[in-house]
Amino acid sequence: MTARPIAVVGASAAGLAAAETLRRSGWRGPLTLIGAEPHLPYDRPPLSKQLLHGAWEPEKLRLRTEEQLAPLDLDLRLGTRATGLDVATRTLTLDGAESLACAGVVIATGVAARTLPGTDRLTGVHTLRTLDDALALRGRLTKGGTPAGEGVAGGGGTRRLVIVGNGVLGCEAAAVARELGHEVTVVGIEGTPMAAAVGTDVGTLLAEEHRDRGVRLLTGTVEGFDTTDPGDGRGPQVTAVRLAPGSTSASGGAAGGTRLPADTVLVAIGSRPAVDWLTDPALDTTDGLRCDAYCAAAPGVYAAGDVARWDHPAHGRPLRFEHRMNATEQGMAAARNLLAELAADGPTGTGDGTPAPERRPFAPVPYFWSDQYDLKIQAYGLTAGADRVETPVRDRAGRRILALYGREGRAVGVLAAGLPPRQIRALRAVVADPLPWEEARERIAAATAAG
Ligand SMILES: Cc1cc2nc3c(=O)[nH]c(=O)nc-3n(C[C@H](O)[C@H](O)[C@H](O)COP(=O)(O)OP(=O)(O)OC[C@H]3O[C@@H](n4cnc5c(N)ncnc54)[C@H](O)[C@@H]3O)c2cc1C
Repeated sequence: MTARPIAVVGASAAGLAAAETLRRSGWRGPLTLIGAEPHLPYDRPPLSKQLLHGAWEPEKLRLRTEEQLAPLDLDLRLGTRATGLDVATRTLTLDGAESLACAGVVIATGVAARTLPGTDRLTGVHTLRTLDDALALRGRLTKGGTPAGEGVAGGGGTRRLVIVGNGVLGCEAAAVARELGHEVTVVGIEGTPMAAAVGTDVGTLLAEEHRDRGVRLLTGTVEGFDTTDPGDGRGPQVTAVRLAPGSTSASGGAAGGTRLPADTVLVAIGSRPAVDWLTDPALDTTDGLRCDAYCAAAPGVYAAGDVARWDHPAHGRPLRFEHRMNATEQGMAAARNLLAELAADGPTGTGDGTPAPERRPFAPVPYFWSDQYDLKIQAYGLTAGADRVETPVRDRAGRRILALYGREGRAVGVLAAGLPPRQIRALRAVVADPLPWEEARERIAAATAAG
């Protein structure tokens, strides 16, 4: 058996799933899990929901305890960043210039939050991608987070929160902040919140929900920030977000001024795949790490989760998802395919004499959910990039939505909120393979006919 390890880079949902699958599928050689964050693998979706709300503490987000990880016999390198990969020799470089020659590599480095220039050193301006980010933002939003003398209304901690970015993350944070009683303004480039992810029909309904709850929705572009220096050594504190001229409220009227007073700002303008460290020209890192249908980016190098852009066999084009379930499923698939490749290559295989398994294309039915107020939105298939959307159920008062998404004559995605779980489960089958549009419509009608 080889003494070279398999290394998994990125110690979160996809990386953990890959490491566990490698062991479960028979890898008995050394296994290294490298994670830039100092924390044990944790779950990210609750960061913008239960954790931000204060309902859950960080321990509840942990995906595994140290005891649960022990049987994996990992060489666990937390707080360590991979800084390079030589693809031909499968050699990783880690922080501190350590070199690690590997039998195989799984890359699961996810994405990083995008920021706005000049915000790094501004007190009160946050992003929301990591546990540390979420705790810092929560510190400002939950009771006790209001430092004295910041001119914050209410004394007990009412914040003027401006969220820059009206995508899913910005809207989830807006919902939590409203529930906590803060004044919330969401400003985005798109006229309709979440339109890029769910289309304008569904986005418009969700916008109404936010507006009913007291969230102010604006369309505009951030020009800069006003600040004050409280002279306490912490540097400038944000006092307002300045919008470029021409900004409007999402209901069409003038925004009523382009200076939005704020003591806390969340910048939620999307993310960029964490591929900066992958400079080997053998890899294509345009919008994530490009992989084939087996999640292979190069021989012995696989990718999974938010970072991976792979050829989805059912959709015939490269796709990349930032969905929690995909991270786990793709981590498992990448690990299995890497092992199959190593086993097929001979002596570097699992080493226990079991026949080499076949590599299999990774062809999941994508799934994501979002929680906003008490509304659970669930979607199967592809809802972004549709050229056709229909909403057979659009019941604003009953808070029920069902939308079907199409592309090039086929139904590729379905989204629902407020429907019985049985119906939502039935919808998955409709878009498991892209069906002709009319056939999918009929099946949707049948799936939702009863109840
Ligand atoms: C606030 C929030 C809410 C979300 N809510 C939902 C939701 O409701 N539903 C849903 O489906 N999805 C949701 N998601 C998306 C979901 O959490 C992600 O799809 C999932 O976490 C992706 O897992 P991953 O392992 O691919 O990447 P990540 O979770 O991003 O993990 C990548 C890890 O790699 C590490 N890393 C990066 N570069 C290096 C390097 N060079 N060396 C070593 N380590 C490195 C990072 O520090 C990170 O820990 C949410 C995400 C966030 C941030």
